Amino acid sequence: MPPCVYCHTRPVDPAWRPFCSERCQLLDLANWVDGRYSVPSEEPEPAETDNPSPAGQAPRTGPPKGDTTEP
Ligand SMILES: [Zn+2]
Repeated sequence: MPPCVYCHTRPVDPAWRPFCSERCQLLDLANWVDGRYSVPSEEPEPAETDNPSPAGQAPRTGPPKGDTTEP
């Protein structure tokens, strides 16, 4: 009897194939569902790119904001 596909320690129970218990089945299913549905929302979006700014946005060529010398 192969070990449980989730905990890899206990033998598979025919009632919960390929797991050893309901607990491992639920945990594995939870992981699967979680990974499937949470991937798109947890994907970090690279916002700090060096793309050319669209028209209307001043190019950043001077000193950082906060140290401006406005009249
Ligand atoms: Zn198990």
